[in-house]
Amino acid sequence: MIPVQTLTVRDTLVTVWERFAGAVTSFHSVKDAIDILLVAMLVYALIISLRRSQSIQILKGLALLVVFYLIVNVFEMNASKFILQRVFGNILVILVVIFSGEIRQILERVGHRNLSLHALFTSRGDNREDVYNMINDVCRACSDMSRDHIGSLMVFQRRSYLGDLTKKAVKLDSLVSEDMLESVFFPNAALHDGAIVIDGNRIVAARCIVPLQNEKEVTEHVGTRHRAAIEISRTSDAVAVVTSEETGIISIAVEGRLERGLTDADLRQRLVDLLVETTPEAQTKKAKSIFRRNKRSGGDEDA
Ligand code: ATP
Ligand code: MG
Repeated sequence: MIPVQTLTVRDTLVTVWERFAGAVTSFHSVKDAIDILLVAMLVYALIISLRRSQSIQILKGLALLVVFYLIVNVFEMNASKFILQRVFGNILVILVVIFSGEIRQILERVGHRNLSLHALFTSRGDNREDVYNMINDVCRACSDMSRDHIGSLMVFQRRSYLGDLTKKAVKLDSLVSEDMLESVFFPNAALHDGAIVIDGNRIVAARCIVPLQNEKEVTEHVGTRHRAAIEISRTSDAVAVVTSEETGIISIAVEGRLERGLTDADLRQRLVDLLVETTPEAQTKKAKSIFRRNKRSGGDEDA
C-alpha cells in the first residue's frame, strides 16, 4: 500500500506536469495564431501595394501562365510542361525581381520611425494637417498658373508605387509650397518639362515622363500633357492635376477619367476628397479651419 504522503507528492507532480504541458500546448497555439496573423498581414500589405498598380498586369500574366500550365499538364505536352516547370521552380526569385520596387517600398515603411499599421499600407506624409496645407499651396499655384497660362502636370501618389515614373526623373524631396511649384513650372525653367510627383506634402521628383502606351484608347481630344495625366491615373491609383498652357483650364484625372474646367474651390474639394482619408464631414470641417487660418495669416485665398 502506498503511503498517503507519497500519493499527495506524486499527484502534485502530475498536476504540475499537466499544467506545464497545457501551457506549452497553448503557447504553441498562441504562436501559431501570431504566425497566421503575420502571414495574413504580409499578404494584405502585398495586395494593397499591388492593387491598381502596374504590377497587377504582371500578376494577370502570371495567372495566365498557370492556366497554360494546367492545360499542357492535362494534354501531356511534355516540352511546354518541362519549360513551365522550370519557370515555376524559380517563381520565388522571379517574383522578388519583378516586385522589387513594391518590396522595397514596404521595407522602407517598416523601417520608418513612426511606423503604424496604417502607415505600412499608405503613403508617407500622411499627417492630415500637412496634406491640407499641401492642397492649399497646390490650389494657389494652380490658380496663378491657370491665370498666366503656365502648363503644369502634378501627380499625387497614393498607394500605388510610382518608382518607375520617378526612376529616370530629377529627384527632389522638397516640401510643397506655392513658390516652389510655380518655380518648377516657370516656362523654360530647367525642370518645367514633364510631371512632378507629390507624395504626402513633398515633391519627390520633377521631369517625370509618363509612358503613353494606349494612345488609341484615349477618346478625348487632348494633347500629350493631359493624356499623360489620364494614363497615370488609369495605370495606378494616383491622381493627376493639370493646368493647360493653351487654355489655362485646370483639370484633374482620376481613374483614367479627366474632369475639366475646375475652379479653385472644385480643385480643393476634389483633392481633399481624394487625398485625405477620413469621413466627409471631418474632411470639410478640418479643411475649412486650416484654410481659414492660412487666409488670416496672409494668404490670398478666394474659397
Ligand atoms: P496644354 O493644354 O498645356 O497645351 P496639352 O495636353 O495640349 O497641354 P502638349 O501641348 O502636347 O499637351 O504639352 C506638351 C508638354 O506636356 C510637354 O512640354 C511636357 O512638359 C508635357 N508632356 C508631354 N508628354 C508628357 C508625358 N508623357 N509625361 C509627362 N509630361 C508630358
Ligand atoms: Mg497643347
